Amino acid sequence: MAQVQTVTGPVDVDQLGTTLIHEHLRNADEAVHNQWPSVGAAKEDPPHEVAPGEDYEIALREAKAADELGIETIGEPTAMFLGRDVDFMRRVSEETGLQVIPCTGIYTYDYLPQFFLNRDPDQIADLFVHDIEEGIQGTEIKAAFIKCAADEPGVNENIEKVHRAAARASVRTGAPIMAHSRPASNTGPRQVEIFEEEGVDPNKVQIAHTGDSDDLDYIEGLLERGVWIGLDRYGLEIFLPYERRQATTKALLERGYADRMFLSADSVATIDWFPANVIEQLVTAGAAKEWTIRMVPERVLPELREWGMTEEQERTMMVENPVRWLTA
Ligand SMILES: [Zn+2]
Repeated sequence: MAQVQTVTGPVDVDQLGTTLIHEHLRNADEAVHNQWPSVGAAKEDPPHEVAPGEDYEIALREAKAADELGIETIGEPTAMFLGRDVDFMRRVSEETGLQVIPCTGIYTYDYLPQFFLNRDPDQIADLFVHDIEEGIQGTEIKAAFIKCAADEPGVNENIEKVHRAAARASVRTGAPIMAHSRPASNTGPRQVEIFEEEGVDPNKVQIAHTGDSDDLDYIEGLLERGVWIGLDRYGLEIFLPYERRQATTKALLERGYADRMFLSADSVATIDWFPANVIEQLVTAGAAKEWTIRMVPERVLPELREWGMTEEQERTMMVENPVRWLTA
C-alpha cells in the first residue's frame, strides 16, 4: 500500500482518514525569533498576546480540538519564513494523536535572501529534495509536499525562481506541490503555466486559496487545467465572507467538482504577523471570524450536509482527495 510521510513517520494511506489539508500549528518568522527570543506572538481567538513558549500549549489545544471533532490528519504547509519546526510539530502530534503532514519549500511574496538570489532554481531544488529524501532539519522526518507562494506582487522574478525550484524538486521526487495563490491578482494561471513548462503533472498541483474568489469562470479556468483547488480560508472574512465561500463550494459541488476540491481554514494556532492589539482591532473589524482549525468540522461540514452534500461528496473531499493528491 502507498504511504504518506508524517512527522511521526510514514503511514499507510488508508490510515490518514478525515484530513484538513491546510492548517498551521504555528506561524512565526524564524529569523526574528532566533534573533530576539524574548518576542512572542498573538492568538486571534480570542485576541490576546502569546508569550514565548506559550505557542506550544495553544498548538496542543487546537490540535486536540480538531481531533475531538473527528479530524485525524492535517496538512501543515508551514515552510521557510513561516517558522517551520518539525520537532514542534512532532511533539504536538505525539501528544494529541493528530497526524501532521509536513512540507518543504519557501513562503515569500517577493523577498529572497542573498543565499537564494545567488543560486539557480536547480540549487534551490536540491534543498527541497533533501527534505523529501533525507529529512528535515537534521531529523528523519521527511517532507510530503512542496510549498511555494505568489501574492499581491504577482509572479515576479524571485517568485518565478521559487516556483521553478519547486517544480524541479517535484519532477525529481514525485512530490506534489501546494501553491499559495491570490485570485485578486490573477496569480493562479501563471503559476500553473510555470509548473507545466517545467513538466509537472497538473494532477500533482494544488492551487491554494482559490476559494478567496467566487468568480466561477476563474475557478473553472483553473480546474480545466487539471489542478486541485483549495477552498481553504473559511473564517478569513477579509478575503471573502463566509456566505460567499459557502455559495461557491455549493456551486462547485453542483457542477461535479468534489473530486478536485479541498475544504480547510488556513488557520494558524498562533501568529506573529501583527502585535496583539492590532489583531484585536482586525478581529473587531470583522477581518477574521471563527477562523480556527475547528471551523470546517464544526460549522462548514454540518451546514453543507444540511444543504444536501452527499456522504460520498464529503468522503471524496475530506478522505480520498488528500490521498489522491499526496500520492499522485
Ligand atoms: Zn497557509
